[in-house]
Amino acid sequence: MKTKKIILPDSKMPTHYYNIVGDMKNKPLQPLHPATKKPITIEQLSGIFAEELAKQELSTERYIEIPEEVQQLYRIYRCTPMVRAYGLEKALDTPAKIYFKNESVSPIGSHKTNTAIPQAYYNSKQGIKHLTTETGAGQWGSAMSMATQHFGIDLKVFMVKVSFNQKPYRKLMMNTYGADVIASPSNTTAAGRAALAKDPNDSGSLGIAISEAVEMAMQHPEDTRYCLGSVLNHVVLHQTIIGEESLKQMEMFGDYPDVVIGCFGGGSNFGGIGFPFVRENLINGKKTRVIAIEPQSCPKLTRGEFQYDFGDTAGLTPLLPMYTLGHNFHPSDIHAGGLRYHGAGSIVSQLLKDKLIEAQAIPQLETLAAGVLFARTEGIIPAPESAHAIAGAIREAKRAKEEGIAKTIVFNLSGHGQVDLYAYEQYLSGKLKDTTISDAELRRTIDELEKII
Ligand SMILES: *Cc1c(COP(=O)(O)O)cnc(C)c1O
Repeated sequence: MKTKKIILPDSKMPTHYYNIVGDMKNKPLQPLHPATKKPITIEQLSGIFAEELAKQELSTERYIEIPEEVQQLYRIYRCTPMVRAYGLEKALDTPAKIYFKNESVSPIGSHKTNTAIPQAYYNSKQGIKHLTTETGAGQWGSAMSMATQHFGIDLKVFMVKVSFNQKPYRKLMMNTYGADVIASPSNTTAAGRAALAKDPNDSGSLGIAISEAVEMAMQHPEDTRYCLGSVLNHVVLHQTIIGEESLKQMEMFGDYPDVVIGCFGGGSNFGGIGFPFVRENLINGKKTRVIAIEPQSCPKLTRGEFQYDFGDTAGLTPLLPMYTLGHNFHPSDIHAGGLRYHGAGSIVSQLLKDKLIEAQAIPQLETLAAGVLFARTEGIIPAPESAHAIAGAIREAKRAKEEGIAKTIVFNLSGHGQVDLYAYEQYLSGKLKDTTISDAELRRTIDELEKII
């Protein structure tokens, strides 16, 4: 019988996260303090994040040990399977071999738990009692709700209003784990009130929700911190467990990828699977193409500008060097809520600038068609976010067929779509449309940025 999937035994599980900054010739530019515009210090970052996470954010150490307790909790669902997509290959009639890393097997259904667990852990070690965060599609809020309840930390989640209304089951998951969920923009913060004053029907964005969560955390520095589910270096760092496992699993398959693909919101699942393979390119002479797939309606990597920008709308977060559409960019209400974010993490941005990774934008209808094909051939209904990675893999597999090359493609299935069926309902009933953005529209929010570089 053909091998369908490989799972590592506990004895072979990675014990360290990989920090690609240690191997980058051009390091990412430093984050700046939002007020002074000087490089931010660990001490300043520690006012918002747990100190250990602030240290990781600025670290250049190549490897960082995964704490015992975190490794133990990972065992609830890790190692996640590396699966050969025979069904998809057959449907595409391609000579390419397609594999996917199945991060949807985590208790909340996506890769977000990989960083939620260590973030809750480091905060609890420091004696933090309350955390605040935001969530787009609800995956991050669910993951953080699960992790904080394990460590006895209380959590407030600002949920982007469009998702709050579209995804009541995500909210209920968070409530079940014990978290408090607030639709953003809300009346509970100055940032939320400012957004509502501008537009009372504002459907929200990750940028506004982050402002609300950061603002609330900063009011109680003695026992409250904020946490973020993507973009930042320490978040991507925790996600590298995906790529480290994948390297070993591909070795056990006796194969090695020519192409590695991840969908792209802020860069955490993409960097998580991709960076260990970029390392092999940088230091072991491998030549894998590592490709980020973003939605056509939120094209920061393919049409954004490399600039310092805030992570949020109100400008409370550090200024990060990133490919960005401007923090006032308001993405259309596409169903891949986790990808509706204006900027990209600073490591990914530097790697893209240096052409060490690639990026492509794909329209919504193509991604949902890919999601449906994947569900029908591999049995898993993917998250609309993950469907972007599948669509990217399908494009590569079709090209392999045209060129008659048997290349090996690995993509990250960042999550399942069982709580996102509304998107499929809209797609199957023909109600979804592709949206395009004019250059003028994109320029408007990019030109508003203060040019620091
Ligand atoms: C949050 C999320 C994403 C996007 O975030 P990244 O940090 O870019 O990975 C992608 N897929 C799923 C399933 C998500 O929950």
